[in-house]
Amino acid sequence: MKFVIGNWKMNGSREILRGMIQQVDGLRPENRVVLCVPFTLLGEKSKNIAFGAQDVSSHERGAYTGEVSATMLNEAGAKYVIVGHSERRMYHDETNDIVREKATRALESGITPIICVGETMDERRAGKTMDVITAMVRESVPANVRDDIIIAYEPRWAIGVGVTPTPDEVMHAHGVIADTLSYMGLGGTPILYGGGVNVENIDDIVAVENVGGVLVGGASLKPEEFIPIIQSVK
Ligand code: PEP
Repeated sequence: MKFVIGNWKMNGSREILRGMIQQVDGLRPENRVVLCVPFTLLGEKSKNIAFGAQDVSSHERGAYTGEVSATMLNEAGAKYVIVGHSERRMYHDETNDIVREKATRALESGITPIICVGETMDERRAGKTMDVITAMVRESVPANVRDDIIIAYEPRWAIGVGVTPTPDEVMHAHGVIADTLSYMGLGGTPILYGGGVNVENIDDIVAVENVGGVLVGGASLKPEEFIPIIQSVK
């Protein structure tokens, strides 16, 4: 089953979320729909949507003012958590080591980590895309994973700007990630594409080999854009 995962970033309100739930609950999705919302919006119930967070502490508990642990996320109803989103890597200096710790905490609490990897435009221009994403997967995925994880390939240059790689570029990157995961004994792990997904390009993207669904930012905020995307992914 493919995934359609929305990342609301620092947007939305309880009223907007309830409106989205009402509309998505009227559908019969043929995929797994997840909304990763701000921490404060966790706790809603939905027939068709599972909820996730957008970050988690790498620590279990203690004097870490402002942080939220995986146990707390679990208690708040989160089934998924995004780790290593490029905005966290960029604005909060998150390294692969930190991302791996966060993914480990999530797994320990029964939460599925959605581990993001992706190259910058400079790395792509320098011909380093495949090396960069291979290293990111190898270093960000915890060792000895026995539970579900999800990888999201999100080229940094495609996030939030309405530019997307070609289907061939997506196929190449997803093929490299699939090979890396197989080598690590994690064949079959869903690999989602994220970055500029919208109603116009969704059909071309989900048709690409090794694309197990999509991670959607801007277009997940409005039902009129998110619902057609949900309905296109089978
Ligand atoms: C994201 O932030 O994960 C994302 C994919 O954003 P957008 O769809 O807006 O490019």
